[in-house]
Amino acid sequence: MEKLHDAYGRGIDYLRISVTDKCNLRCIYCMPADGVPFRPHEELLRAEEIARFTRLAAHEGIRRVRLTGGEPLVFKGVVDLVRELRAIPEIEDISLTTNGVLLPRLAPELKRAGLDRVNISLDTLDAEQFRRVTRVGDLDATLAGIETALALGLDPVKINCVVVRRLKQDVLAFARLSVDRPLHVRFIEYMPIGNDETRSHGALDPEAATYDAALWGKSDVVPTAELIDKINAQAAAAGLEPLEPVGEKDPAPLGAGPARYWRFPGAAGTVGFISAMSNHFCSRCNRLRLTADGMIRPCLFSDDEYPVRDALRRGTDDEVLAVYRAALEHKPKEHELIEGTERFMSQIGG
Ligand code: SAM
Ligand code: SF4
Repeated sequence: MEKLHDAYGRGIDYLRISVTDKCNLRCIYCMPADGVPFRPHEELLRAEEIARFTRLAAHEGIRRVRLTGGEPLVFKGVVDLVRELRAIPEIEDISLTTNGVLLPRLAPELKRAGLDRVNISLDTLDAEQFRRVTRVGDLDATLAGIETALALGLDPVKINCVVVRRLKQDVLAFARLSVDRPLHVRFIEYMPIGNDETRSHGALDPEAATYDAALWGKSDVVPTAELIDKINAQAAAAGLEPLEPVGEKDPAPLGAGPARYWRFPGAAGTVGFISAMSNHFCSRCNRLRLTADGMIRPCLFSDDEYPVRDALRRGTDDEVLAVYRAALEHKPKEHELIEGTERFMSQIGG
């Protein structure tokens, strides 16, 4: 079947699935310091329920699926789930967003099961800052994950970097990762997902006070235009040519989505910008989200959700599809300017 369109004529063919709300890291902007509140097992979808949902969504036109979370690689059934999704004939592309830590262990199996590609999140190349931002992480572990993805030929390998002004990240060093190797570095504008209570839940390390992301404010967002100027100014000082937009003869990496891509002349990879705050891409939004507890969320920035877990457990295909269609029908035209959401990113599936 052709992809279904929402009330505003947008063809919806992309499903982001949060397979778990748990994570082995605790990034300051994404999760409370002591992890997500405990949820009984039965409140979370099982792999076979996610697969059923995806099979039905594929009848409605879903063609591309991304597994996310929380950290999708801590979900026990992740390899089997990828295999089940690969067996759905309509699904053309299966990708995964991960912090990379478990990739050295799991990537070979995931690739054999049918995973096409990965996005790996990495916000800083400074080991000490990495530990503070992730609260518990080890930079070398994530770097090893990137090496594994490249060595296995998962293609393209994208690096997601959320830019937060107070973190003063070395953005040129990030952009330069794209020069020698086929890495696609994407800078993401910091979004007001979650709220002060959920982001700062638990005591913050006083030493890390300047990293207190609970204080999300517009001033922490670095708009794309400013960031491109900054990278180009730093590149010039380092004797590099400026970034140039990726053109038709030189296509953007697969699954370009809302990112706009640039490239250093002659570079093996690209530099992308996802301007969720400075340039809304609502009119091109082609996605729905499924949360780990079985809610369909039509818009990242809106707390309107459509519960599908009971239908997946006890309902007929038509009952599941009725919820799917209701969510699609109510996908908002655009999101309002918000300063927070009920749930934080790791619960929604970023
Ligand atoms: N654990 C996986 C990871 O870190 O890649 C997948 C889930 S994580 C929620 C998905 C993406 O959302 C990551 O790239 C993360 O940096 C991004 N993210 C989380 N909170 C964000 C925020 N407030 N603004 C922008 N991006 C955010
Ligand atoms: Fe975990 Fe990813 Fe959120 Fe970091 S961004 S806490 S790695 S889910």
